[in-house]
Amino acid sequence: MLAIDGPGGSGKSTIAKKVAERLGILYIDTGAMYRALALAAHEANVPFTSPQEIQEFLTNLKMQYGVSPAELIVIDGKNLTQRIREHHVSKLASEFSQILIVRNHLVDFQRKLGLQTFCVMEGRDIGTVVFPDAFCKIFLTASLEIRARRRLEELKQKGQNNFTLEQVLSDVQERDRQDMQRKESPLKQAGDAILLDTSSYTIEQVQDKIIEVAKKKASEHGLRL
Ligand code: C5P
Repeated sequence: MLAIDGPGGSGKSTIAKKVAERLGILYIDTGAMYRALALAAHEANVPFTSPQEIQEFLTNLKMQYGVSPAELIVIDGKNLTQRIREHHVSKLASEFSQILIVRNHLVDFQRKLGLQTFCVMEGRDIGTVVFPDAFCKIFLTASLEIRARRRLEELKQKGQNNFTLEQVLSDVQERDRQDMQRKESPLKQAGDAILLDTSSYTIEQVQDKIIEVAKKKASEHGLRL
């Protein structure tokens, strides 16, 4: 397990996906799972304040991950892959992910998935909670402004043009606050994770660095990568 954690806009998804591709191993995006569950719960009118209704919702749903890139995340037969990237879903996911039963449900799901195969798993708590024994842990970060600019660009590319930099910056900042200050598994760097600031490096440079570190760690652990 190669664990990659960090805040939104740190370049995690793009980088983790490429690293997995270059190493020829599976890539698992845990943020997509929080996004999909939050969206599905919201649309089913499950109150985020009712642990009982959330538990019922979680017990009865069927979530499929990674059937194909076009069907990355499917809940109860509904393909949510595109819709989870809409801007408002980030906020829903950040709220829903604060709830302990939601986290327990997904951590369980992620552990089962991660134990099936050697992979790159990306999120907020992979190195701290989901796989604390991961052979290699990376924590990616970047300045707030750069992360907001990247996020705005991402939204534009998806045709969501009606946001200003100020708006996105304030949303990114609020999401950071929620993710870092929540009681359950807050976003933080694992003690043994390697910190990489992506602000002034290209995507390729960061990928190269991660691959170099991962190969070194793998050989220290007697693993072949
Ligand atoms: O990474 P992404 O921006 O898609 O994640 C959406 C939200 O899901 C995050 O803001 C965070 O609140 C939550 N999340 C989490 N733990 C993870 C992955 C994502 O709490 N492992």
